[in-house]
This record gives sequence, structure tokens and C-alpha cells, in this order.
Amino acid sequence: MTPSIIAIDGPAASGKSTIGELLARKLEYLYFDSGVMYRVVTAVALARSIPISDEVAVTRLAENVRIDFLPAQVPDGRQFTIQADGRDVTWAIRERIVDVNVSPVSAYPGVRRAMSAQQRRIGLKGRVVMVGRDIGTVVLPEADLKIYLDATEEERARRRYLERVARGEEVEYEQVLREIRRRDEIDSSRSVAPLKKADDAVYLDSTGLSVAQVTERVMAIVASAARVERET
Ligand code: C5P
Repeated sequence: MTPSIIAIDGPAASGKSTIGELLARKLEYLYFDSGVMYRVVTAVALARSIPISDEVAVTRLAENVRIDFLPAQVPDGRQFTIQADGRDVTWAIRERIVDVNVSPVSAYPGVRRAMSAQQRRIGLKGRVVMVGRDIGTVVLPEADLKIYLDATEEERARRRYLERVARGEEVEYEQVLREIRRRDEIDSSRSVAPLKKADDAVYLDSTGLSVAQVTERVMAIVASAARVERET
């Protein structure tokens, strides 16, 4: 049987959302990007001038903000529409200011508790590809298939840099690289649910591979997981 709960974890810009969405579409599963939830809390905190360093206020916000994932209603390249308390924040959560502040927000234990509970409830329904940092280790340790998607820092920075240039932003590669390093450092060293490969995750290095090549490898991993289950 094809694995029903699929977890894809990995560092910033490792290709999780591109590959996760393609995989979900092929399998006709729900695609769920858990990073969006931390980004929403960060974007709303910034919009309301809540200091990111105020753990109590940021946690209270995480516990109360309503996050909705809707089908993409605007044809502007979005994967889906994301609303925070009914307001469209699809692009606001991708801004650089959010990239820079999201890791401190997601390191707060209370914020993680609020987000992980919702993610777990969605994931346990099955037929889902969920991507993030701690899906295979903490949110859905019982996932049927876990993949850890990686790539070198330089390759990841290059991908993020090109994405930003395509969006018309003025950025420098060196700066993108610095910010990705900083985010990975905070995400990997936090005390609660740090970014790390689950012991039973399949490691996939996408450095130098095209999206089509990574997708092909991921599909082979899915097929092999289905075979192993049939044989046992
Ligand atoms: O995947 P993305 O880069 O959009 O995630 C944004 C941030 O959200 C990450 O840098 C990390 O701090 C946080 N995150 C997390 N746990 C997840 C997903 C994302 O802590 N499962």
C-alpha cells in the first residue's frame, strides 16, 4: 500500500515545498506546509507591532490566531491562499522581514505546542504530505514514510536568491546565504523540536539535481516503501 502519512523535513530552501506539492498532486493527497503556520504568527506579530522578543505575547497570539488554508483564488503563482483571521497573508508571510524573524518565534515552546497540535490533527487523517522541520521527529513520529531532504548551503542560497530575483526583489546572494545559515543555526540548536533527521528517515541530497530528478527519486522511495509494506 502507498504510505498514507508522508513527512518531509529539511533545512531552509531544500526544496521541500516544491517537491512536497508535486508529490501530493501525483498521489492525490493533501499537501500541508507546516512552516506557513510559523510564518503567519511571525507576520501577524510584526503587523501588530508585538515585539518578537515578547515570548508571552507571541505565544498568546499563536494560541489565538485563526489560520486558514484555501485553494488559490488569485492566479499569481501562489500554491494556495493563506488567511490569518480572515485576511489574505499569502505573500506577506514570504517577505524578508518574516524570514529574518521566524526562527526566534518558532523556538518558543508555547508557539510550537499550539502549532504542532493543529498539524498533528490534520496529519493523522492520512493521505497527506506534510513538510517542515520536526514532522518526522515530533509532530507525526508514526508517519508511514519519512524523507529528509537536504542540499548544500550554497545551493539552497542560490535557489532562494533566484526565487527572490524572479519576484523582482533587490537582493544579494551573500546576504541570502548569511540569512539561510542563521535560520538553520537557530532551527537546529533550539531546545524544543530542533531540525534533525529522524532515525528512520530516508536521506536525500538534492544538490545538483533538477526538480524533475528529485521528484523521480522521491517517487522511487515511495514505491519502495509501498513494496516493503507489501512484503512484510
Ligand atoms: O519551511 P519554511 O522555511 O517556510 O519555515 C519557516 C520557519 O518555520 C523555519 O525556519 C522554522 O523556524 C519554522 N518551522 C519549524 N517547524 C516546522 C516548520 C517550520 O520550526 N515544522
